[in-house]
Amino acid sequence: MIEIRDIHKSYGSVGVINGLSLNVEEHQVVCLIGPSGCGKSTLLRTMNGLEAIQGGEIRIHGDRMTGPGVDLNALRRDVGIVFQSYNLFPHMTVLENITLAPTKVLKQGRDEAETTAMTLLKRIGLDHKAKEYPDRLSGGQQQRVAIVRALAMGPLVMLLDEITAALDPELVSEVLNIVRDLAAEGMTMLLATHEMGFAREVASKVCFLYQGKVHEEGPPSQIFGDPNEERTRAFLQRII
Ligand code: ATP
Ligand code: MG
Repeated sequence: MIEIRDIHKSYGSVGVINGLSLNVEEHQVVCLIGPSGCGKSTLLRTMNGLEAIQGGEIRIHGDRMTGPGVDLNALRRDVGIVFQSYNLFPHMTVLENITLAPTKVLKQGRDEAETTAMTLLKRIGLDHKAKEYPDRLSGGQQQRVAIVRALAMGPLVMLLDEITAALDPELVSEVLNIVRDLAAEGMTMLLATHEMGFAREVASKVCFLYQGKVHEEGPPSQIFGDPNEERTRAFLQRII
């Protein structure tokens, strides 16, 4: 479904993504792991058009998502992204946050957008917070709203970048539960995560990134249980 072929990205003369290739099948959950600075966030940002690449290409269902002439609105409709810091607009209510892009980008009517938003909020048990401003919500609640805001666009794939890293430990599970539910529903997802236990449980495939490349990939049982590469082994020994 997603083909990433030999992509390159540098900042100035420093290569951050150095010939990275990766395939993601429909309904797969791909977990990106690797040391700080290995390029996980940069990879996710290139997939959403937030960073331009300097070589290679990314395709979704065969359509080119990178390079000149790409329709960024279409790309951002199809590819939802959620960051570590929830990035809700502080001056808008929960409902306004969720309906903004569907009304502005997809040109949905307000009623339709609000109906969809309320259905999604109900599903995560936050419909009673629809009229609240983000600062009245806990970090976990804000992050759940950020996920729903991305889902409201009806994306083909969701990119999640360390979405629990900024949360107090007791709030992590409520956010991971939503990701679990999405995985069970068959949502195609790429997630950068330091939650190795969660990656092991939810991933169809784990990719260990090193110096801007996929150094090793495989099913979680192999990567966590018996990695082939010395660097993968060393990384996992350090953090587990
Ligand atoms: P972490 O686990 O710490 O989140 P990461 O794998 O997500 O790390 P990236 O954020 O993708 O790593 O960063 C990869 C490299 O690119 C790092 O060396 C970082 O310093 C560099 N980098 C990222 N963004 C920029 C930028 N806007 N300008 C210059 N260098 C950048
Ligand atoms: Mg990162």
